[in-house]
Amino acid sequence: MHFLDILESWPEPRIRNLYDSVSPADVRGALSRERRDVRDLVALLSPVAIPMLEDIARESQRLTRRQFGRTISLYAPIYLSNVCAASCVYCGFSANAAGQQERVTLSAAEIELECKTLSAMGYESVLLLTGDAPAVVPPEYIADACSIARRWFASVAVEVYAMDAKEYELLCAHGLDGMTLYMETYERGVYAQMHRHGRKRDYLYRLEAVERAAAAGARRISMGVLLGLYDWRIEMIWLALHARYLERKRWQTALSVSFPRLRHTPPGFQIPHPASDMDLAQMIVALRLFLPEAGFNLSTRESAQLRDRLLPLGITSMSAGSSTRPGGYGAPECNRLAQFEIEDQRSPAEVVAMIRRAGYDPVWKDFDDAFLE
Ligand code: SF4
Repeated sequence: MHFLDILESWPEPRIRNLYDSVSPADVRGALSRERRDVRDLVALLSPVAIPMLEDIARESQRLTRRQFGRTISLYAPIYLSNVCAASCVYCGFSANAAGQQERVTLSAAEIELECKTLSAMGYESVLLLTGDAPAVVPPEYIADACSIARRWFASVAVEVYAMDAKEYELLCAHGLDGMTLYMETYERGVYAQMHRHGRKRDYLYRLEAVERAAAAGARRISMGVLLGLYDWRIEMIWLALHARYLERKRWQTALSVSFPRLRHTPPGFQIPHPASDMDLAQMIVALRLFLPEAGFNLSTRESAQLRDRLLPLGITSMSAGSSTRPGGYGAPECNRLAQFEIEDQRSPAEVVAMIRRAGYDPVWKDFDDAFLE
């Protein structure tokens, strides 16, 4: 069975009907079970569950510690390029975004400098990012960037445009071990409105990309939706179904979920379905009860105060000291276009200190090739 079949078996009216019928007893039942189904997740995500959020958070914390102990993995993004041929209406890298700031694609020497700078801070895990511009930033360039990064870091992941199986295999052959790709939104009508040009218009090609990457050998897959594009209570159900499908079908792959919230969008774009801090907390703790073995990532898109509060609720991985512009570590003063402004401006050392104060162990390296031998 393909994931599309599962997605189509859960149309929005079916999910809304479940939400409409949730009672406090359903939430208590979902809390008490060890294995939860979609009905349980709906109950935990529903407004009816809000008075019981503390109980759900305690269970989320218990499950997270059982699976991951008190570890928080650290990673940093490296933007390889800010050139993009797509025109996603919510993004600062969009081809239509006005502005005088430079669009660049890093040279091999510049990538090396970014790696060297981050490595000196202690990082062992990086995420390489580009826009959607395969004519300027082809898979072969990204593969070379993986090779360079692999000389510096134990773990290299990418967050780039959706690719074919052969292209993912190429990246894996050059040292890639992880792939992040957000569906942005599972709602097809909204997806079409937000992605009007370029290859990204192809909903199905993007929907199936994470599975292609896993089949090609990516050891870690990170998924998510862009919170704010559509009703998060509906999106979380579709995302959870997708994650559970992959857990079963690609059980060799370590799965994680990110919670990117739309912030600082281009002028003229109103976030259609904003998610509040409380919403974010509810989706993290509810999803943890449905996906007890998945890693949960929280980036510097969120403020320092909120990240500190969310940390013990189910988070297992955080970025720190991030730059969202190409060359932002080696040449921090450059006037290059950034994808978005980060909220948590603390240095890696400050984030590490915060993690320790909270009673957790910051982990720079959680993987070595020797594990595979
Ligand atoms: S979201 Fe990605 S593909 Fe869309 S405009 Fe931004 S960088 Fe380009």
